[in-house]
Amino acid sequence: MEEIKKILAYNKQFVEEKRYEQYSASKFPNKKLAIVTCMDTRLVELLPAALGLKNGDVKMIKNAGGVVTSPFGSVIRSLLVAIIELGVTDIMVIGHTDCGVQHIDSEMMIHHMKERGITQESIDLMKYCGIDFEKWLSGFDTVEDSVRETVDTIRNHPLIPNDINIFGYVIDTQTGELYPVCGPALD
Ligand SMILES: [Zn+2]
Repeated sequence: MEEIKKILAYNKQFVEEKRYEQYSASKFPNKKLAIVTCMDTRLVELLPAALGLKNGDVKMIKNAGGVVTSPFGSVIRSLLVAIIELGVTDIMVIGHTDCGVQHIDSEMMIHHMKERGITQESIDLMKYCGIDFEKWLSGFDTVEDSVRETVDTIRNHPLIPNDINIFGYVIDTQTGELYPVCGPALD
């Protein structure tokens, strides 16, 4: 709560001093690019800085792990809007080193949920909603496999047009170095 109050105070000053002017951009991405990546705190500034991205350049879609968990989920929906309505032609899926989602154990997470007051009844209900609850929660073994799987899922999605380029990378959480998993490298 305290942090949010500080943010609100900062925001008021930001607007009053017209510091938004340097961020002026349109909703159509300059680079016709969408990036699917992780919500990791270390990537908030590092990723755009390491890729030379400015406000207005790309559509950035983030979640835990930078993965597609469902063909009808929010990542695919966001990509469809970006491609069909906002002119995106290229997609980069960017995993990262030391990801918090890697090795997440769904059983352990369910155990932690119960400690936070979620009942077994609620957990059982989720299991009957037609999804593989454990798989939905679980992490991945290697970041490269996860990136490859996400790229494949997007490439093979029936609503993603064939002329869209989809590539996979891993970014170093420390140095910002990008290395290709499936896609072009620097010549
Ligand atoms: Zn991560």
